Amino acid sequence: MPARYLIADEPTTALDATIEAQIIDLLRRLRNEFSGSIIFISHNLGTVLQLCDEVAVMYGGHLVELGAVRDVLAKPLHPYSRALIGCEIDDQPRNVPLAFIPGKVPEPVDTPPGCIFAPRCSYAVEKCERAMPALRPFKGQLAACARLEDIT
Ligand code: SF4
Repeated sequence: MPARYLIADEPTTALDATIEAQIIDLLRRLRNEFSGSIIFISHNLGTVLQLCDEVAVMYGGHLVELGAVRDVLAKPLHPYSRALIGCEIDDQPRNVPLAFIPGKVPEPVDTPPGCIFAPRCSYAVEKCERAMPALRPFKGQLAACARLEDIT
């Protein structure tokens, strides 16, 4: 029997809270009834936590971290995952400036040499510009960073 996938691409983006809750509930029920895998694409980490078992963090078209949702959100390894989670506003105290990642995602036709996140990474060093790091196992997760041993 061929593998079956359901791809839900940003299904809750730009919805009001009531409709969003209905979509999340629908996807929860589908999780139990659908005999295949559901790929849920989202920028909303809270929704990812509610619906997913595993998370793949993408940056500039590259898979930079992969692991169990609870592990990645609690102990992100890759600097981009860390920065992304650091920008979540749910627990942000009042009067504290919102966190952001400086710079912008490179154009697909104009990517930097080496690690694609290097121009925006606060941990970047010279060796990061030599090659795009491969995804590799580290502390029970997978991450594509040349400095995992130094920064975690
Ligand atoms: S390889 Fe270097 S630039 Fe890329 S994420 Fe890791 S520390 Fe940052």
